[in-house]
Amino acid sequence: MTKADFRNISVVLVNTSHPGNIGASARAMNNMGLTNLVLVRPKEFPSGVAIGRAASAVALLDNARVVDSLTEAVADCGLVIGASARSRRIPWPLLTPAQCAEKALEAGTNRVALVFGREDTGLSNEELRLCHYHVRIPANPGYSSLNLAAAVMVICYELYKTATGVDKEGAGPAEREWDQELATGEDLERFYRHLESVLIAVDFHDPENPRQLMQRIRRLFGRIRIDVMEMSILRGMLSNIEQNLRKRDPMD
Ligand code: SAH
Repeated sequence: MTKADFRNISVVLVNTSHPGNIGASARAMNNMGLTNLVLVRPKEFPSGVAIGRAASAVALLDNARVVDSLTEAVADCGLVIGASARSRRIPWPLLTPAQCAEKALEAGTNRVALVFGREDTGLSNEELRLCHYHVRIPANPGYSSLNLAAAVMVICYELYKTATGVDKEGAGPAEREWDQELATGEDLERFYRHLESVLIAVDFHDPENPRQLMQRIRRLFGRIRIDVMEMSILRGMLSNIEQNLRKRDPMD
């Protein structure tokens, strides 16, 4: 996994009312590897409540830059993206969280600001006009306004995913790191023949009336990359079923 470098990216919180949201946003940022927090006229800061909610991300609060206006916060930024739940009267270029992550990472060494609004009224139209793009987190149309720190988390998580490629690699080890060889096509064909004969023997499958059973079974096993060990476990099960059938009905 590539290590993410977000040194040029800042999270800007505008006029936040609840210090708990500042702490929780700092925590979310730290979880996702972001370090630069800018606070535009926070209602209450520094704050014990913010420290409590930040948990192990207190350093972000200690290093937070506190400024008087959004204009000042984004003065050195080449790319400014504002997070907004609402669509505005004048449409602005709108990004999904994944596109927002792409844009922010494409900015290279240019400074990037990700701007979040007030808990009650969000970002003003003037503030939104300072942004090159708006980003909207898709959510329940009946209630699409996320808690501020939750919105910060979603945007930072997308950044982390895109920067590290972790979602492309998947959560488990890649196939090349698997502890067993993968079953080959020949192994699978042998397994399907074996399975079919057992399913016939136990009267589950009627070859006169197959009803696409084997096709569906093939599709089922095709969806997973089965390894040789797993294949031999399955073949072992089938052999034991056959042995038991023979024991019960020795004349057969
Ligand atoms: N009631 C406010 C929303 C405040 S939520 C309004 O209608 O605008 C606080 C901040 O979290 C918002 O300003 C925005 O920056 C962010 N946010 C919340 N939900 C969001 C969403 N669905 N998409 C993008 N940003 C969102």
